[in-house]
Amino acid sequence: MATDNPADGYELVIGLETHVQLATASKMFCACAAGAAGAEPNSLCCPTCLGLPGALPATNAQAVALAVRLGLALGCEVHEATRFERKNYFYPDLPKGYQISQYRRPLCTDGALPLGTGGERRLVRIERLHLEEDTGKLEHGAHASLIDYNRSGLPLVEIVTRPDLRTPDEAALYIETLRQLLRWLGVSSGRMADGALRVDVNCSLRPAGQEALGTKVEVKNLNTITAVRDSLVYEQVRQARLLAAGQTIKHETRGWLEDQGRTVGQRSKEQAADYRYFPEPDLPPLVLPEGLRSAAAALVPELPWQRRDRFEIQLGLRADEARLLTRNRTTADYFELALQALPEAPRALAAWMVGPLFALLNSAGMEMEAAAAVVAPDALAELVGMVEARRIGASTGKGLLARMLSSGERAPAIVAREGLEQVDDQTLLTAWVEGALAANAKAVADWRAGKTGVQGFLIGAVMKASGGKADTARVRAMVEAALGAPPDARHAADSEASE
Ligand SMILES: [Zn+2]
Repeated sequence: MATDNPADGYELVIGLETHVQLATASKMFCACAAGAAGAEPNSLCCPTCLGLPGALPATNAQAVALAVRLGLALGCEVHEATRFERKNYFYPDLPKGYQISQYRRPLCTDGALPLGTGGERRLVRIERLHLEEDTGKLEHGAHASLIDYNRSGLPLVEIVTRPDLRTPDEAALYIETLRQLLRWLGVSSGRMADGALRVDVNCSLRPAGQEALGTKVEVKNLNTITAVRDSLVYEQVRQARLLAAGQTIKHETRGWLEDQGRTVGQRSKEQAADYRYFPEPDLPPLVLPEGLRSAAAALVPELPWQRRDRFEIQLGLRADEARLLTRNRTTADYFELALQALPEAPRALAAWMVGPLFALLNSAGMEMEAAAAVVAPDALAELVGMVEARRIGASTGKGLLARMLSSGERAPAIVAREGLEQVDDQTLLTAWVEGALAANAKAVADWRAGKTGVQGFLIGAVMKASGGKADTARVRAMVEAALGAPPDARHAADSEASE
C-alpha cells in the first residue's frame, strides 16, 4: 500500500562514532591542565600541544587507566601491547599537521553496550575503543575565524560501534546510555554542551529484506542528543527520496545545520589511505604497566543496567522505578543506603523517591547530590518507616519531606514538636466523622440520591477536621460504614424486593 512516508520500504542502518573527553588532570601528551572549560583562550598550551618543532610527547598514564576502565565496563578485550599512530591531515585546528591516534592496534576491541531493559534489552556491539588527542577549536566569526588551542591535546577515546542500530530513537538511546555509563564510571563528564561527548553518525538505507548495506553517509560533530535523532530522521527521508528517484547515494561527509534542520554535503569521505597512518616515532609502544588492568577492573562498579536488573528482580521494583533510581550513581547509592535503614520496605522507599522526592527536587531545581547532603538516606528511611507504620499519614509525610529538604531537620523531631502523629483514638475519629457528615448534609443527601462521587469529598472533610492526623484508609472505612450500602446496590435490592 502506498503511504506518504518516503522511507517506508527501506531499512535504516546506523553506526555511531563518539569522541569522549577523559576526565584527566592534564592533557594526553603534555603536562598542560585539562578540564578547564571556560579558561582564557590559548592560555593552556605548551610547545607540545601547539605542535612546535622539537617538542616531544609523553603518554598520560591516567588517560590510559580511564580508557581501560571504560573498555572493561563495555566488555571489551583490552590489549596489553598496542601503539600510537600518526593520522596525517591538514586543518587549521591541527597545528602539527597530524593527530596522534590509534589505528591498526586500538587499545580495546569487541565490546558491547546493552540498551533498554529486561526482555527488550539488546546489545550494540562495540568494534573498537582507542585513545587519541583532541584538536584545537575553531570559532568562525563574520570576518575572521579564531582558534583556541586549549582543547588541542586533550585526551579522547573514540568509541566505534558496529552498524547495529536501526532507528533514530535507538541511536539517541545509545548516546543516553553511553553518557550515563561515562558518568557512572567517573571517566568523563559526558557534558555534550562542553564538547566532552561528540557524535558522528554513519547511516545508510537499504530496501527492506536486502542483506547488502547501502552507501554510507557520515554526519559529523553532533553535540546534542536531539541533533543525533533529528539528523538521522532527515537523512532517512533524504536518502529514501534519492533512491526512490533512481539516484545513487554519494559516499560523503555531511554537516548538520541545527537552525535549518537539515544536513549539507561537506566533502567526499576520506579513506583510511588518505590519512597515511604510520607508527608514531616519538612514542614507545603502549604497553600496559603491570597492575594497571587489575586496578582499573577494581574501579568498575556494578554497572547501571546490572543494578537496574537487581532492583527489579531482587527487590521487586517496577521497571520504571528501577530505571529512574539508576539514572545516576548518586541516586542509586542513596536508595541503597536508605534501604539499609529500612530493609523491609524497598517498594515503599522506591515509591517515595521517584514520587514525592523527585517532584520536590524537580520543582526546586535541586540535584540529588545536594539533596543527599540535607536529607541523609537514613532520614528518608525514617520518614518512610513512620508512614509505613501508620504513625503519620502519607500527606503529612509529604509535607514533612519538603520541610526536611529545606531545614535539614529529621521527621521525628518535627512530628513530636508539632503533634503530627496519626490519631488512633476511636472516640476522636468517630467524632470527626460524625461532625463532618453533619456539617455536609447536602453532600450526604447527594450521596443518597446516587452521586457516589461525593464520598471522596466527605473523606476529605474528615481529614481536614483531623488536621491530617487521621488515617485515610480508616476514615474511608468509617465514612462508608456511616453512609451505609452504596445507593446502586440499594436500588438493585429495592427493585428486586418489589418484583
Ligand atoms: Zn601542552
